[in-house]
Amino acid sequence: MENKEAKLKEYARLLIEVGLNLQKGQTLMLSSPVECADFALLCADAAYDVGCREVVPDLFDMRLIREKYLRAADEIFDEFPEWKRHFETDYAEAGAASLSVGGYDPEILSGVDPDRLTRADRASEKPLERSRHLYMANIVPWCIASLPVPAWAKKVFPGCPEEEAMEKLWDAIFAAVRITGDGKAVERWKEHLAVMEARKNRLNALRFKSLHYTNSLGTDLTVELPEGHLWAAGTSVTPKGQVFVANMPTEEIFTAPLKTGVNGVVYAALPLSDSGNIIDGFHFVVKDGRIVEYHAEKGEEFLRHAVEVDENASYFGEVALVPYDSVISNMGILFYGSLFDENARCHLAFGDAYPECIEGGQDMSQEELQAHGLNHSIQHCDFMIGTADLSIIGTTHEGEEIPVFVNGNFAL
Ligand code: ZN
Ligand code: ZN
Repeated sequence: MENKEAKLKEYARLLIEVGLNLQKGQTLMLSSPVECADFALLCADAAYDVGCREVVPDLFDMRLIREKYLRAADEIFDEFPEWKRHFETDYAEAGAASLSVGGYDPEILSGVDPDRLTRADRASEKPLERSRHLYMANIVPWCIASLPVPAWAKKVFPGCPEEEAMEKLWDAIFAAVRITGDGKAVERWKEHLAVMEARKNRLNALRFKSLHYTNSLGTDLTVELPEGHLWAAGTSVTPKGQVFVANMPTEEIFTAPLKTGVNGVVYAALPLSDSGNIIDGFHFVVKDGRIVEYHAEKGEEFLRHAVEVDENASYFGEVALVPYDSVISNMGILFYGSLFDENARCHLAFGDAYPECIEGGQDMSQEELQAHGLNHSIQHCDFMIGTADLSIIGTTHEGEEIPVFVNGNFAL
């Protein structure tokens, strides 16, 4: 690849300066798999360049995590160590920014007992409640970005030799995050964010009561939106005014559904890699917000783990609009990774809702958010529903019907 060094440095700089907008004197939590440690080092360099107080590394190896799920003593999946709660909470509580980089084999946990995954998630519920809230409510800035690793690249480009698959995945990622090696990615991102902002403002001005989704897969779903809902896109902002971009790439405009206001049937348009396993060919039947029936052609036991991990995992927390004709989707690549696939297609998430999706939400307690109709769960799982023939009709509080999506793309 031409200019690879320059592109890597530009990517690291973009994540620090636009992704987190890291401030002088701010601490950075930097999480990365060991396979991506060289890139993590570039991120640390970029962070110290803008005056970072301290980069706190959190390196791990997914192969070791897999071994733990396969071979550790059974009782450890019901425990959550106190030191880990401190590690996940204390830096964030003190205002640290958090950057998570890396890539994973989409089937790294295949063969693992789904019951162990469920119990481990449940054991983390209380200990991580505070740290989850700090991130979900954007109290602290956070950013997630992807890097190729061989097992992932080979899954995305089957039949390619490893080196070629890695180069192709790098090319796709650089294109998705608008990096060409010319040093102008920061400017390109500013333009991109302005375009998304304008569309977000149009949606907010319409104040829809509900959205009705239909397509030829069989989706026929009505999603009510809570009173005072806000669409979000691109940037988020902390209560202290630090503007950041939580996902890179990002192409979505999203809000929260009314927890009890989703009804109908929805079919997944792409397979989903969740908890290190692939779930494919699935659909949900939804009544008064709750998934009352589900079926998957592949990985149904992992879908069960996903929607049953807690009481509210079977309710929805996010409605996101992404045109079928957009940068990532036009690559025609199935990434088996939510960060990319969710930015290529309209999607929904079951589980937790983002407090920024309701007026004043960042200052509300969990009880207040729920009283406003937002769901709360330890789960937040995005799955893709957008197709080339997706239609979405919005209905206003006055009963006016307005096409939002026609043939998979924005009609507004
Ligand atoms: Zn989303
Ligand atoms: Zn999401």
